[in-house]
Amino acid sequence: MSIDRISLLPEVVRNQIAAGEVIERPASVVKELVENALDAGATRIQVDLEEGGVKLVRITDDGCGMSRADLALAFEPHATSKLRSPEDLEHIASLGFRGEALASMGSIARCSIFSRPADEELGARIENVGGRISEVREAGGAAGTIVEVRDLFFNTPARRKFLKRTSTELGRCLDVAQRAALAHRGVGFVVTHDGKRAYDVEPEMDLLDRIRRTFGAELADALVPVSAEAGTTRLFGYVAPPRFSRRDTSRQMWFLNGRSLRDKVLSRILREGYHGFLEDFRQPVVFLTLSLDPGVVDVNVHPAKSEVRFREQRRLFGFLVNALREAVSKTDMSTPGDSMIASMRRRTGEDERQPALPVSGPAHRPDPGVITPAPRPEPFVVREVEGRPFSTATVAPGSAQTPAQRPVQTPAQTPVQTREDWKARDDLRGPFLQVARTYIVRALPDGFEIVDQHALHERLTYELMRRDVRENAVEIQSQLVPELVECSRADVELLSGHLDGLRRIGLDLAVFGETTIAVQGLPVRLHHPDAEGVVRDLIEILGRTGKAPEAEDVIEEVLHSAACRSSIMAGDELTEDDIRSLLSRAGELESDQTCPHARPTRVRFDLADLEKAFHRR
Ligand code: ADP
Ligand code: MG
Repeated sequence: MSIDRISLLPEVVRNQIAAGEVIERPASVVKELVENALDAGATRIQVDLEEGGVKLVRITDDGCGMSRADLALAFEPHATSKLRSPEDLEHIASLGFRGEALASMGSIARCSIFSRPADEELGARIENVGGRISEVREAGGAAGTIVEVRDLFFNTPARRKFLKRTSTELGRCLDVAQRAALAHRGVGFVVTHDGKRAYDVEPEMDLLDRIRRTFGAELADALVPVSAEAGTTRLFGYVAPPRFSRRDTSRQMWFLNGRSLRDKVLSRILREGYHGFLEDFRQPVVFLTLSLDPGVVDVNVHPAKSEVRFREQRRLFGFLVNALREAVSKTDMSTPGDSMIASMRRRTGEDERQPALPVSGPAHRPDPGVITPAPRPEPFVVREVEGRPFSTATVAPGSAQTPAQRPVQTPAQTPVQTREDWKARDDLRGPFLQVARTYIVRALPDGFEIVDQHALHERLTYELMRRDVRENAVEIQSQLVPELVECSRADVELLSGHLDGLRRIGLDLAVFGETTIAVQGLPVRLHHPDAEGVVRDLIEILGRTGKAPEAEDVIEEVLHSAACRSSIMAGDELTEDDIRSLLSRAGELESDQTCPHARPTRVRFDLADLEKAFHRR
């Protein structure tokens, strides 16, 4: 076998190889071209697609345009107006900088560019068909640039085979356009598919308007703003209540200096921000704009530029997590009844699936298989009944409304949105109903709520103990007769190294023998403590994490387990006073809508939910 001599690859092939990294599918074309339009200072960008972008992606912008001389270079590899010197790589402020996108596209599609700077009478046009670049010819047209990419991968059939169905490719193109629209206030976007409008936002719409247009009013209305600043670092945006969470991270939108990012590190920051409010397998929904000095972040780590590397990671993360936690704790954490109804319907197959193809106008597409609340109807008031229709009195059998008296839909009151709104209207008067010695059902001004008594008490106990530790005010209830727990020598060894630290969080233990631990006292907050259970969990936690009980996350975990093992268990009968005291004390907490493991403590049904459950609407 003979080996050919080494030779340089022809330029077309080199560009095709580069294209393999940058252009994977129509959505990558949309991304690169929209970025170019944004870099050119456009305020209106139109994206026209045919057949999911495979047949055509055309981007029209009103940006600065290119002179004839620039146009002649646009399809050349490594031709860019955005970098001049190696130093420029250290602080990249533009979206593009590699100068490869147009050259790559030209090598794998039939491309053309028309461009006219505003101060020139006439524009010009150039073509690149699979690497064959035409002359620059004069042409007429509006100021700005139009780039057309037709028949993607027409000359690389192997790549073409990897494309998915039209609806899938279109969905990805839309995702790219929507992310760009969310990231760039001041810029208007229009997307059409096969001649029909698929998405648009006007230049003057702010971030919240854009979110509403893109994902619907229900989400937009429930968002809580985030705004924080430290030196040149600024964080601004919105976080959604935990109930909007999903199984994937596709609705975690981070915008770093105008660049949309999907970065594992940022997802981890969100996990921290929602820690304790969200079950571990759920992903929160956020829209966050991060401005950083371009010098402290490296965007040149990935050809698609969607991952970055931060300098000074630690400080930045601390700042982000704190700002997020504060906002997240202000969201309405309640679990609305309509989410249960929606999931009930899904289970019984009643949920009519919406078409996969996006339609024009605001997108209201539910995610199949994901428990997110269905679009919530406007709340309404009951006309016939004055004041609080359901407050204290039980509804007498004869007073049930006949269909003729059915609640009349009147123009909506201000929707009930925040925790504070609910709290202000909550008088804890009852009546209360205990079901299966586990759940408390209670009336609310316009609906009712089901409380998981154990989960709520667990949250209450946990929060109070946490506060005690923070304020150095832990009170220990000494046991008259210490409870003895048998365990292994290694366990005794492990615990004996941490006795002081444990006492600081309320666990007064002593070594009683080679294989025995004595529980001498536990936090006063624990009502029916299961001393042995607490010690066993403690051993497990210390062993698994290998950390001391002083570590924040260990404190949290130990207190969770202690709270769980000592709270009102499902099965305890409660008096009306017990219930009222539990509810009012829980109401004082920062967050009482989930237990420490982020399971819901309460599910709330308002009138609209009931109407839906009984198919009245
Ligand atoms: P990069 O964006 O990395 O510089 P591209 O291949 O995407 O590389 O574009 C090459 C150059 O073409 C850009 O640097 C810019 O000068 C010019 N260009 C591309 N698109 C536009 C546009 N829509 N308006 C004005 N100039 C453009
Ligand atoms: Mg570019």
